[in-house]
Amino acid sequence: MLKVDQIDVYYGNIHALKGVSLDVAEGEIVTLIGSNGAGKSTLLKTLSGLLKPKKGDIQYLGASVAGKPVQDIVKAGISHVPEGRRVFANMSVEENLELGAYLRKDKQGIREDIEKVYELFPRLLERRKQLSGTLSGGEQQMLAMGRAMMARPKLLLLDEPSMGLAPLLVKAIFNIIEEINRSGTTVLLVEQNANMALSIANRAYVIETGKVVLSGTAAELQASDKIKSAYLGGH
Ligand code: ATP
Repeated sequence: MLKVDQIDVYYGNIHALKGVSLDVAEGEIVTLIGSNGAGKSTLLKTLSGLLKPKKGDIQYLGASVAGKPVQDIVKAGISHVPEGRRVFANMSVEENLELGAYLRKDKQGIREDIEKVYELFPRLLERRKQLSGTLSGGEQQMLAMGRAMMARPKLLLLDEPSMGLAPLLVKAIFNIIEEINRSGTTVLLVEQNANMALSIANRAYVIETGKVVLSGTAAELQASDKIKSAYLGGH
């Protein structure tokens, strides 16, 4: 479904991604693990069109999307839930969900999908009229994910959904990621919580200072001594 081929991404002189390649097959949950500043968010931003690779290519469903406008990429079925959630604080929960469908015109379908999001996240239904800025961190994460689902993505890019959440809530969010995946959405998940990420992923890539240094099935990485000591220890 997605094939990232040797991409290089820069911020000015900073070489943030160095020849990164990875694949995601339809139906998978693939996770990208790595410490702070490794380049994980940069990779997701490049996939969603916010950054342009200087070299290399990104093939998605058989066509190149490298450097395409964000809007075209959303239309093609890639939705990005950025780190830190970024909900529209002065709008209600429901207005945020409606905005997630901004490229769609099928009113009936949009209504049905809002109901589906409420089934997935009953907490959002209870709070549909509430201003999003007053939601808890976990509720904002749910809203950000719900809003991304409103674009009917085929591939969902999630950037650190567990960040700042209490363990029980992390578990709930990860259960929902699995549910979204079971209902047919492919997931690329960036996480610092490698334990949780590997527990739901099919495969994983480890990224360090802008390079993929290791990849394999989630089970292989969970069993790797290097991963155990570097990423699964204190988390
Ligand atoms: P974190 O989990 O801390 O967000 P990350 O793996 O997602 O880490 P990135 O945010 O992708 O890391 O950052 C990769 C590198 O690019 C870092 O060295 C970072 O300082 C640099 N970087 C990120 N954004 C910018 C920017 N807007 N301008 C300049 N450098 C940036």
